[in-house]
Amino acid sequence: MNLRHDLIEFRSSPIHGTGGFATGSIAAGSRVIEYQGERIGKQQSLERCIRGNHCIFYLDETWNLDGNVDWNPARLLNHSCAPNGEAERIDGRIWIVARRTISAGEEITFNYNYDLENYREHPCRCGSSGCVGFIVAQELFGHVLAQSLLAAGTEAPSRS
Ligand SMILES: [Zn+2]
Repeated sequence: MNLRHDLIEFRSSPIHGTGGFATGSIAAGSRVIEYQGERIGKQQSLERCIRGNHCIFYLDETWNLDGNVDWNPARLLNHSCAPNGEAERIDGRIWIVARRTISAGEEITFNYNYDLENYREHPCRCGSSGCVGFIVAQELFGHVLAQSLLAAGTEAPSRS
């Protein structure tokens, strides 16, 4: 895999495995790296999701993008509950775009937007002050926090 990239240096991350770090200051709103992958149909997406592939993005009504390929270094970027980047669909491609100014040396993160299915199997170690403890989409933070509070308040949390 070619890990050379102008704006990002890939190296060991305190969050998880290998992460991407800004080599210099990146302006808010700029495209940091394209999230590349294989274009696949909806049925194929479904089959790959069932087999545990979490790198699939919606492209349009016909196509999805499977980023779980060697030649997509953006798949190494870590999730964060307070990310400095976000995945955006631009002209039929997926880009990681800076949500704010990113300083040199900062780890570049985005929200993986996982749903609640088996979310307990995906703990988050992003280290941000607002970390909800699991890798889920931002709109699900409230639900996950409420569940954690419930679980903490009972000796043997009942599974519903
Ligand atoms: Zn987190």
